Amino acid sequence: MIELSNCIVLYGSDLEPYWCDRFVVDGDTVQQLVLREPCQSIDQGALVVVPGFYNCHTHIGDTCLPDGATGMTLEEGFFRPDGYKYRELAKRSEAEHLFHITNHLHYMARTGTIGHIDFREQGVYGSQLLQRAAEQTGVNSIILGQFNALPFTQAELKQNCSSLPPAAVTELEAILAIADGFSESTMNDLTDPAWAQIREITQQHKKLRAIHCLENDAYRADSLAMAGRGDLERAIDLYQPDLIIHATVANDAELALLSAQRANVVLNPRANANLGLPLPPVAKLIESEANLLLGTDNGLLNSPNLLPELDFTYKIAKSQFGDAVRPDPKVILKMVTSNVGVVLQDKICGYLAQGLPADFVVLNFTNPHLRASRNILASIVTRVTPDDVLATVRRGRYLYRGEID
Ligand SMILES: [Zn+2]
Repeated sequence: MIELSNCIVLYGSDLEPYWCDRFVVDGDTVQQLVLREPCQSIDQGALVVVPGFYNCHTHIGDTCLPDGATGMTLEEGFFRPDGYKYRELAKRSEAEHLFHITNHLHYMARTGTIGHIDFREQGVYGSQLLQRAAEQTGVNSIILGQFNALPFTQAELKQNCSSLPPAAVTELEAILAIADGFSESTMNDLTDPAWAQIREITQQHKKLRAIHCLENDAYRADSLAMAGRGDLERAIDLYQPDLIIHATVANDAELALLSAQRANVVLNPRANANLGLPLPPVAKLIESEANLLLGTDNGLLNSPNLLPELDFTYKIAKSQFGDAVRPDPKVILKMVTSNVGVVLQDKICGYLAQGLPADFVVLNFTNPHLRASRNILASIVTRVTPDDVLATVRRGRYLYRGEID
């Protein structure tokens, strides 16, 4: 049983802040939520209860190499078969790797995150390793597996007509027996017939599909050279992904396509900036019908802490809108809470209400930089640091618990 009184709760899928007389958790559920009046600002501090965050794009496997790709291009650092990431991951012992992954899942909980969607390399082994770490920490790892090695030669990719070899189909089935879905680095890593096969197999197994698109202009250009169409267009037509990652260089036609599809688009502007790539069109995407989510991308580029990602994304969006009004900070906070529930309907809600799962974070707004906040939602997005996280709770269980004085 967890009980809080006279706190502030961000209530419902619209994340409206209310004074709350009683917030009671029994077992894995919010048993009681007794709300008073709405509350936009405070004078003398309060505890603020927010829905637990979901980080929708991590590569937790390479958190063992912080800043290892400094000075490298996207291709040098991250592309198969010989990018730095893949060479280094192959050297890790199982025990050492598990140690780093588990520590970073604890760190995520320390920073208010209760779950993540991970793009796990290393085939069946990689998915199994993360599953073990998740069981140890209680963090909800939604695992999207990837082939251990690319199943096609460069010549086969160029011809773009081969189906998946039988060994790759067997590997995919084995990955899906453990993982929640499938992902690949880019559309250009597999042939068109292979993408259609993977769509069918993942549909049969009721698993998620994700793909990185338009991270830089080469994604589109290579796809045009290989298949006569850009990577986003091919992804939507052949693979029908549940999640599209990046959209960094999406042009107006591609933005219109994402909007028409009501696509779930995961942004990670800090990782894009860290690689010297353009910033994603956050403002245009906010104005579209796409459902926006946030991630921190590779552990090589960023620690998996969503708090600075919220701040950075909010300020980019404000700059792109070019006025002081848009967006409402709530729009950004939804990208790590209630918008995630739209994608993972059968797994999580992404917001708080009586009778729903007790997935929440308690923030200490009695700290000096928060106690007189004139706009609680803006302060959550721009000022909260890991030191302000008092507790992170998933399904009624503490994933992290600090000192409450
Ligand atoms: Zn990724």
